[in-house]
Amino acid sequence: MPQLHSLEPALKHYFGYDSFRPGQRQIIEQALQNQDLLIIMPTGGGKSLCFQLPALLKPGLTVVVSPLIALMQDQVEALRDNGIGATFLNSSLNSHQVRSREEAILKGKVKLLYVAPERLLSERFLPFLTLVQHEIGISAFAIDEAHCVSEWGHDFRPEYRQLKQLRQRYPGIPTLALTATATARVRQDIIQQLALAKPSIHVASFNRPNLYYEIQPKQKQSYSQLLQLIQAEGSGIVYCLSRRKVNEITLKLQQDGVAALPYHAGLSDEERTENQTRFIRDDVRVMVATIAFGMGINKPDVRFVVHYDLPRSLESYYQESGRAGRDGEPARCTLFFSYGDIKTIEYLIEQKSDPQEQRIARQQLRQVLDYAEGTDCRRTIQLGYFGERFGGNCGNCDNCNYPKPVADCTIEAMKFLSCVARCQERFGMNHIIDVLRGSKNQKILQYNHQKLSTYGIGKDKSAEDWRMLGRSLLHQGLLDQTTDGYSVLKLNALSWEVMRRQRTVFIAVTAAPKPELEDKELRTSEVEILFQRLRLLRKQLADEQSVPPYVVFADSTLKLMAQAQPQTLTEFGKLSGVGSHKLNQYGDKFLAEIKAYCQEHQLPMPTNSVAAIPASGAGSSAIFPSDTQLFTLQLHRQGLSVAEIAQKRNIRPTTIIRHLSDLVEMNQPVDLNQLVPPHRQQKISEALLVVGSHSLNQIREYLGEGYSYDEIRLVRGRWQRENKV
Ligand code: ADP
Ligand code: ZN
Repeated sequence: MPQLHSLEPALKHYFGYDSFRPGQRQIIEQALQNQDLLIIMPTGGGKSLCFQLPALLKPGLTVVVSPLIALMQDQVEALRDNGIGATFLNSSLNSHQVRSREEAILKGKVKLLYVAPERLLSERFLPFLTLVQHEIGISAFAIDEAHCVSEWGHDFRPEYRQLKQLRQRYPGIPTLALTATATARVRQDIIQQLALAKPSIHVASFNRPNLYYEIQPKQKQSYSQLLQLIQAEGSGIVYCLSRRKVNEITLKLQQDGVAALPYHAGLSDEERTENQTRFIRDDVRVMVATIAFGMGINKPDVRFVVHYDLPRSLESYYQESGRAGRDGEPARCTLFFSYGDIKTIEYLIEQKSDPQEQRIARQQLRQVLDYAEGTDCRRTIQLGYFGERFGGNCGNCDNCNYPKPVADCTIEAMKFLSCVARCQERFGMNHIIDVLRGSKNQKILQYNHQKLSTYGIGKDKSAEDWRMLGRSLLHQGLLDQTTDGYSVLKLNALSWEVMRRQRTVFIAVTAAPKPELEDKELRTSEVEILFQRLRLLRKQLADEQSVPPYVVFADSTLKLMAQAQPQTLTEFGKLSGVGSHKLNQYGDKFLAEIKAYCQEHQLPMPTNSVAAIPASGAGSSAIFPSDTQLFTLQLHRQGLSVAEIAQKRNIRPTTIIRHLSDLVEMNQPVDLNQLVPPHRQQKISEALLVVGSHSLNQIREYLGEGYSYDEIRLVRGRWQRENKV
């Protein structure tokens, strides 16, 4: 068995990364011990590495089952670009190609073979597999998108059910199942259907800390709103409910000079594939799509996802918006919300014939509304929906960053609730609002409700205002609603407290559209310009090989290049994301571009520039946090202590402190108070004022033994940020 302590060097060698993401190391250790595994990680969590690295470290072939041809091709391309022997077999190949790939496998040239389930279990393929087992050995089966075995998941595929046969035919070969679906029901199904033997189960947090979540009230000028969001850099997806809307928005965007293409079920297969490929290859920047688009799209550098219309459920919103930022870099998820959309969806629900389906759909709509109208942290609401507790303020959503102003609406609430009481708790929201606003419609007259004391007492407010209030009362539990499909409003104990003036009611006031994200400010033009040039080079190299640009280098790696401006291959090779193979393949080209840039701009060529990257711990002049720093930040924000982070990441605590102090200096959301008590911060700041920030030793001497270098370092980070010259 490979030496476990050598896992990090292997990670760097093959994939160019410096450290594992949370969970990966332990999973890989267990995979190397031939355990069965069930791996549940959100999109972008880094599942693939969990079977790819073991595949490279173990003798024999790892067989990867994957449901979609596009997915297979992507993964194989990415692996090959790292110089790894990988191939796929699927229906897109002719028999000659199949034969030559099979030969390569039998010669031991391939470490990872991707196949579709129906091929794997075919009469023709199974004997070949047995031959492979005898000749070179099979190191593992990896079942990707394993939720496809479950009828309870969102993407059931009957072929997946047959995979059980693998266990029967090859009982000794370990199986890894991987999925991003969170529900317990599906989890059980996977274990049972794939006959996993005492699997070790890894459930990663479903939190995606790099995603910024926000709701924007959809205005009359919703298209201009969209256009403004699209000004942001990078690729993005715009989801719409209907094909008609997709076509309309695409056209408008094209007219406004945005490179956009449509994607929906009304297009031919060829058109869809073509548009998708052009998006993945960065030929177009924006995909306008119905939800038909996305499953199996592996593009890691999607920078924004806009829902132009309401999503059907919170789960689908999580999955769809989750296509942003798989590479861990910041990305923005915006949901346009209007009450008009609710009516459309309610209408669609009414068209369903099965009452059970209607009920479920209504409940899902309710949850989406809860999310959209909620004033709590968006992340907290989403994760709560998956049964995961998230402690309050995430600092990366609109509600956390721009808390909504609330207004005291006790009087209005009393009017509303007493109207419900007067109507004897037998009517829904629309009728109550009609009574309040003094409508003369048929139903009012039929029930003689124009005689009620609450008739017309709410004329001063629009129906929309009353609806907002009513919904908010429901969300706050100050009013109930029957779930029999009729949505009759019912009073509860809390309603009576309000009516007796024992309880004040606060309602969030709809805020104006949110200010732009501020990350732009962090960028300096020099780094930014070089980054854009490196992107162009990347695109050119990718096109030459007909692969997507991210296969060449991830955005994060390009950022590191732009920031560190390495001048030698050795320096270049140290960057996260540069493995041995990529160093050989691309190092010279990127170095030449960087050098040319430095010369043109007469920048001093940094002699030891890589050492200046914050990750390596020198005082930070950096602008972007590195991957490894972002991980530390993520764990810190989840409330882990320095010691816990160190243990989890298998990194020394002092390194974690360095990450945190650099992050503080870069004005990242580190909670300094959690690390150093405020009165001690005060003392350290005084010391900094007196002796300056240059020497930690001097500061320590000034403060005395009672203060640790760690504390000083952290506070110094802030001090340096505030006193930058
Ligand atoms: P998933 O399949 O879980 O959606 P992927 O396996 O595609 O996610 O990984 C998402 C992205 O994260 C990829 O770009 C991958 O290269 C990157 N990644 C995975 N592991 C690491 C790591 N340890 N360090 C840095 N980047 C990583
Ligand atoms: Zn939040």
